[in-house]
Amino acid sequence: MKFIGVKLMKYNQNFSLLEQNYIFTKLKEKVSQLRANSKLDVIDLGIGDVKLPLFNCVVSAMKTASEELGNADTFKGYPPSEGYYFLREKIANEYKNFRADISADEVFITDGAKGQLGSITELFGANLEVLFLSPCYVAGAEANVLRGNKVTFLTASEKDGFFPSPPYGKTFDLIYICSPNNPTGETMDENLLSVWVEYALNSGSVIIFDGAYSSFISGDYPKSIFCLPNARKCAIEINSFSKSLGFTGVRCGYTIIPNELFELNKLMKRWLGCRFNGVSYVSQRGAEAIFSKSGREEVKKRINFYKTNAEILKIALKSVNLWYNNTVCSPYVFAKVPNGTTSTDFCELLLEKTQVVATPGNGFGLGGEGYFRLSALATRDEVLKASDRISSFKF
Ligand code: PLP
Repeated sequence: MKFIGVKLMKYNQNFSLLEQNYIFTKLKEKVSQLRANSKLDVIDLGIGDVKLPLFNCVVSAMKTASEELGNADTFKGYPPSEGYYFLREKIANEYKNFRADISADEVFITDGAKGQLGSITELFGANLEVLFLSPCYVAGAEANVLRGNKVTFLTASEKDGFFPSPPYGKTFDLIYICSPNNPTGETMDENLLSVWVEYALNSGSVIIFDGAYSSFISGDYPKSIFCLPNARKCAIEINSFSKSLGFTGVRCGYTIIPNELFELNKLMKRWLGCRFNGVSYVSQRGAEAIFSKSGREEVKKRINFYKTNAEILKIALKSVNLWYNNTVCSPYVFAKVPNGTTSTDFCELLLEKTQVVATPGNGFGLGGEGYFRLSALATRDEVLKASDRISSFKF
């Protein structure tokens, strides 16, 4: 507590339960400092930010949209808070392509997944019991801690393929599942996902499904939790255009709340009304542009480019005998640090000796200790250089 003037400020005491700095803020600062203080050629494969530019079709759609806003006849003010229908409809139709029956009124356009992973909790009551599968992207867990919810981590390991089984006998209000998972790259197959859906239905929980990497899925894995019809009774999906379209700076994503969860769908509209003023018309037109034949092809090419990056990094790790999780639906390589060292110490050593930035696995929760993550969302040049340096370094 601190006095400002005569007023006693009531800070949210839950901040004291968080790490002092958010993992990726810390990493970003470290890389900036290194670059500013030395002439070293630092290659940042730590933060999962994209490095390649927007697609031509997206840029062209955004230019046209800007011109519309610059014309009195076609100018637009506040966007609809649930999103423009043209984009909601395109997203819903896309889901039909992978056997998920979604309608436009179930899709809400957002400014990305991160904010939603936390603010979705405002649709529910206080003091929630919330389950996360660790290691995981920690933003949702931190947001729940800030709200005063009780967060439990169910730790996965190599033995269970980095996805644990449901904790039968225990119940949670919310269960966060990310598939393909950041950082492990592991993707739930239909069997495992349906086990979790049945568990949620039987225990009265709602699954918050983070599909931020769904566009990296190939093969038979479900591209959405709604590929399982039963999930319509117990799940919300949060998704993002950040990695697939390079929208980390543009900001656009979406949340799907099925009509079977009628009350939550209604509350989401109410939440948007009081807490959100929509996503810019320009961003939404940009996102819409990829739902064309050529747009889809550009996305596919970009995803394959990142996946090839990941394969190149794996070859380098193999050459120095470092174990990695050999997944194919993710832009990340999740690898094991050598025996006798910790995630943090290893990443420090890697940076010092090779100037390659990796994220220490413990930044993704306890389940990540002993591992590190390399991001393949980089240019080919960066990945080749980083691979050369890793291959020639004796750990
Ligand atoms: N969910 C996961 C699993 C992520 O890894 C990330 C970003 O790295 C996000 C959500 C955030 O996505 P957005 O950029 O849409 O906020």
